This record gives sequence, C-alpha cells and structure tokens, in this order.
Amino acid sequence: MKIHFLTPFPKMVDSIVSESILGRGQSKGYVNYNIHNLFDYADEPHCRIDDYPFGGGSGMVMKPEPVFRAFEEVKKSLDDKKSLRVIYPTPDGKVLTQPLAQELSVTDQLVFINGHYKGIDQRIRENIVTDEISIGDYVLTGGELASAVILDSVIRLIPGVLNNKESADTDSFSHPLLDGPHYTRPEVYNGMETPKILLSGHHQKIDEWVNEQRENKTRERRPDLWKKYISSKGKDGVKNG
Ligand code: SAM
Repeated sequence: MKIHFLTPFPKMVDSIVSESILGRGQSKGYVNYNIHNLFDYADEPHCRIDDYPFGGGSGMVMKPEPVFRAFEEVKKSLDDKKSLRVIYPTPDGKVLTQPLAQELSVTDQLVFINGHYKGIDQRIRENIVTDEISIGDYVLTGGELASAVILDSVIRLIPGVLNNKESADTDSFSHPLLDGPHYTRPEVYNGMETPKILLSGHHQKIDEWVNEQRENKTRERRPDLWKKYISSKGKDGVKNG
C-alpha cells in the first residue's frame, strides 16, 4: 500500500509513522509512506498556506493552490490501475468504524489531506477528496492525529503486519462482542489473583468463561452491540450464518 500525506507539519507525521505498528508496516515492506510539505507548494515570497475566509467569520482557511499542486505531484507517482482513496479527516465526516477500516485496508493507494485552522477550501473537498472521515464527535487542532488514528486502524488489518499473537480477529468490533479481560504473568501480583479458570488448562471451559465475560461487558456497556449480537443468534442460542 502506498500512502501519501499532504501536511504543513511533516515532522509530526514522520514521528507518527516511524514508530510501533505504523513503523513496522513500512519496515516489513507492507506499506510505503510519502510525506509532502504543503509549504513547498505555496507561492513565494510569503509561502502562505492559509488565508481569510470569504464572507467573513473567524479563523483562517487552508488555501486551495498548495493542496492542488501537491496532489498533482502525488498523482505522478500514483498507478491509475490501482485503487485510490483520498481521505480528508474532518469532524463533519462519516465516523470511522471497523468495517470502514477493513474497506480501506484493501486499498492500494491512500492519500491523507491534513486540515488546520477552520479547515480546507471547499473546492479541494469537492474535487480531490473521495472520503471525509471523522474520528469522533470532538474537534482537534489539525488532521495529523486524526490521520494517524485512521491509518493505525487500517495498517494493523493488513495480513502480516501484526504478529499472530496480536491477532486482530478477536478484538472488539472485529468480533460481535467487546473484548474480554486479559491477564499475564505473574499469576499473583501484590495479592491480586488471576482467575483460576485461566490457569486450569481446560480450553473449552476457558473459552466459555471468556465468552461469558465478553457477553457481560457488551450487555452492560454497549446495548446497541448487544442487541445486534442477540438478534444474530437463533432462538436456541446458536449463532446464525
Ligand atoms: N471547522 C471544522 C469543523 O468545525 O468541522 C474544524 C476544523 S479543526 C480545528 C482543524 C482540522 O483538524 C480539520 O480540518 C480536520 O482535518 C482535523 N480534525 C479535527 N477534529 C477532527 C475529527 N474529530 N476527526 C477528523 N479530523 C479532525
């Protein structure tokens, strides 16, 4: 997967994609990051990437020229025959979910346009962007952290990026139920014990216990998911499909 970032803060993006799973994705050869500094595409001598909004109002707006020019440059290295999604992270976008992350994880080329100030000029959104994605109902200062959240949720789903022991299949939202509790060594820490069942070696009983924990948590915390889970099970409690 080829990933391009259009950003006024290239160092910030670089530090995000160099570490952890995002960094591992590149070092293992599954993804390739390209960071484009929007100031390099701004008009001299002032190299401004923002300007006052037409019609008045508070805050600045990111100008169209640097973004359109940077995108033209990016297009030179894109392959027309391969799939492409151009993402603008924005609070008024479609909220990021696991199915959307799945969908993006099988895309060949991703471009992230990182907004700042009041956001980007509407003409960029209408002519370049294919996906406007929100990471939740709150407002960040800039798009880089939102892009990082979207990207992290995508990259970990590319087969091979995660080690088996970190398999994403049983995580919340990949599974109909929220994830259950996890314990590791030591068995007893400062008097706090690991549930005996997990040390029993009885796999079927352990699976039943884990499932019960997941069900209890989902019922308590996410009635919406619980309702879906229940309706996906037959009358006798056997899961359909
Ligand atoms: N005026 C915009 C609004 O009210 O929808 C908010 C602009 S915000 C201060 C600056 C940039 O941060 C946005 O252009 C977007 O790229 C990013 N951003 C902020 N919050 C976000 C969120 N919840 N999801 C995705 N991107 C976000």
